[in-house]
Amino acid sequence: MIRFEQVTKRYPDGTTAVNDLSFEVAEGELVTLVGPSGCGKTTTMKMVNRLIEPTSGRILLDGEDIAAADPVRLRRRIGYVIQQVGLFPHRTVLDNTATVPRLLGRPRKAVRERAAELLDLVGLDPAVYGDRYPDQLSGGQRQRVGVARALAADPPVLLMDEPFGAVDPVVRERLQNEFLKLQATLRKTVLFVTHDLEEAVRLGDRIAVYGQGTIEQFDAPAAVLGAP
Ligand code: ADP
Ligand code: ADP
Repeated sequence: MIRFEQVTKRYPDGTTAVNDLSFEVAEGELVTLVGPSGCGKTTTMKMVNRLIEPTSGRILLDGEDIAAADPVRLRRRIGYVIQQVGLFPHRTVLDNTATVPRLLGRPRKAVRERAAELLDLVGLDPAVYGDRYPDQLSGGQRQRVGVARALAADPPVLLMDEPFGAVDPVVRERLQNEFLKLQATLRKTVLFVTHDLEEAVRLGDRIAVYGQGTIEQFDAPAAVLGAP
């Protein structure tokens, strides 16, 4: 589904963020990228939706070189959730969730119904929270809206960059568990960045353990934990 072939990214200032990276993620697989700050995880993610272009190498999505894909159409196939989800402050939770499908011109009523369903799926009762504004939510609730919004266009691929990193440990654990439940039914192809090994192990079907700009190990959680 996602395939990196010898991908290197060098920033204009000379920093090599990722070096000769090759790996493959299967359809419906949740891969966690784990490692210390600055090892190239975010750069890896941003190359998948072409926020950043590789210096060399290729990235294939469903066998297709993404360098040849139209970035706008590409991003419709890829949901993106980051740590500080940027919700529109002057739109309600429901409208925030419905933003993308509405931009795509889908019918208004169907879009609202689907947005309400998605809010429910991420554990926010739309009847209670749908008409609130982002500043009337807790941090954990805002992250839930971010997940619902990313799912609204029904993308086969989800990129999640420390989506639960900004909430306290108790809330984080709840979000993790609910996300696992959601993923068990939705079976998206997910790249999930975290610097927390425990989170990587709990969520990942496989774990990509980063060193400086490279993946040092790419394996199932048990194998990663059992490694010397
Ligand atoms: P991580 O997500 O693992 O924290 P990043 O992918 O953000 O790592 O960064 C990898 C390396 O690239 C770091 O050394 C970082 O300082 C550098 N880097 C990231 N973005 C840029 C940029 N726009 N310009 C120059 N260097 C960058
Ligand atoms: P979480 O466990 O999701 O982080 P919090 O403990 O932060 O939740 O918040 C508890 C409750 O308080 C939530 O139901 C949330 O809706 C409500 N709440 C938090 N901040 C605000 C606010 N600024 N205005 C109204 N309600 C709020």
